[in-house]
Amino acid sequence: MSSSALSLVPPELIARYEPVIGLEVHVQLATATKIFCGCPTSFGAAPNTNVCPVCLGLPGALPVLNHAAVELAIKAGLALNCSIRPHSRFARKNYFYPDLPKGYQISQYDEPLAEQGYVEIRVGDEIKRIGITRIHMEDDAGKSIHEGFKDSDRYSYVDLNRSGTPLIEIVSEPDIRSSDEAYAYVSEVKQVLQFIEVSTCDMEKGHLRCDANVSVRLRGAEKFGTKAEVKNLNSFRFLKQALDYEIARQVAVLESGGKVEQETRLYNPDTGETAGMRSKEHAHDYRYFPEPDLVPLRVSERWLAEVQASLPELPAKKRGRLTVEYQLRDYDAEWLTQSRAISEYFETAARISGDPKATANWIMGDLAGSFKGKDISESPISAENLGEFIKLKLPGKLAKEVFPKMFATGEPASAIIEREGLKQISDTGALEKIVDEVIAANPKQVEQYRGGKGTVINYLVGQAMRATRGQADVAAVTELLKQKLG
Ligand code: ADP
Ligand code: ZN
Ligand code: MG
Repeated sequence: MSSSALSLVPPELIARYEPVIGLEVHVQLATATKIFCGCPTSFGAAPNTNVCPVCLGLPGALPVLNHAAVELAIKAGLALNCSIRPHSRFARKNYFYPDLPKGYQISQYDEPLAEQGYVEIRVGDEIKRIGITRIHMEDDAGKSIHEGFKDSDRYSYVDLNRSGTPLIEIVSEPDIRSSDEAYAYVSEVKQVLQFIEVSTCDMEKGHLRCDANVSVRLRGAEKFGTKAEVKNLNSFRFLKQALDYEIARQVAVLESGGKVEQETRLYNPDTGETAGMRSKEHAHDYRYFPEPDLVPLRVSERWLAEVQASLPELPAKKRGRLTVEYQLRDYDAEWLTQSRAISEYFETAARISGDPKATANWIMGDLAGSFKGKDISESPISAENLGEFIKLKLPGKLAKEVFPKMFATGEPASAIIEREGLKQISDTGALEKIVDEVIAANPKQVEQYRGGKGTVINYLVGQAMRATRGQADVAAVTELLKQKLG
């Protein structure tokens, strides 16, 4: 069914059904080396250069578990409110892929590292908990690259640089009820993992990949419908599009008297559609068995406590604290905690400026506008310099003139003001001279003002500001004009 045909499924019909969604999120752990060997995990190396007998899957090569990968996985588990098993186990998941030379993935099955967690998302005005069933560790496969279109001129290549990259898979409960909730869930998971530096979660590089399990049931029904699994959702936009398509497709199938097949479907970003790929395999198809080359993984209480102690303040907690401690609006607190770096930048600047609200406004307005999507760590204006700039309480127009100069040069505001002679004019003698000139140059407006048209004062103040390129103290100018005009 094409997406145009599906857009004909009437919304009232879709509204009679309730979507049920569970997500499987794969995240690449930010280790320097692979999960079972010492090869680098760096992105973009020449094909098949970051490899060794272990990650090439050569017979007889033995895996050695990367301690740093386990530590990051524990961090993720704790930050996502899971309990960590003191004893977990790796298992072989057998299947054939051209880019999986071992013929199996080393994953975890019945004894995953972490289980029974949750994240909280905002749905309207409510906070909703989405359960996390489990988080397990596994190795990534290599990559197949397909080239050419004509049958006579078509090649596939295998690059094993990615083979053996450490992943965690985060499996949610089927608690999600709309594509918007799915979006919010993945955003929250991503933000938490970035805050604790477990992963860059860079979706463009495939560091966060998502599969969605979707079913629909008539609203009010108890029993879940049959689910389809949609793969290849490598951006937030695709996740939402694919879910909306899949929900409409399943409703259309059921409404026409059909049955939803339990299958794996592939999302095609070019068409916005999902298409059947294969009937869903079941766990027993993988012939899971305990990995004989690795001892069980033990996490001592002491290790767990150490990792727990190393966790920074998590985004949800930080958002709450910013609204209380700095009296920020929810929206501002949310914006300023979108990354740990931004939140730290804000707090440093706010402490120095003594004016959190103004600091938030400058960061979310002019600073964000000046850098257009770049990371705040690349900001030419340091948090210290922004704080000091705000503390100067420059008049609006002068501030707007100094800010871009700080952005261009990276210099503190005071240095720019000094060098360019941009000091605010509040010296009464100097202001009087300017005000006298303005009065002399605008006899008509002066007459109107004296005749009772009070708003004309704004025009005269404007003239004085213009004459001083915005450097006059507005309040002082207004006061002087009023005095002189009686
Ligand atoms: P499978 O054995 O097919 O892999 P699981 O029970 O392991 O199924 O669940 C895989 C994912 O599918 C989980 O994220 C889970 O929340 C979700 N899920 C399970 N049942 C349904 C359903 N009926 N509709 C939507 N999602 C579901
Ligand atoms: Zn290797
Ligand atoms: Mg499963």
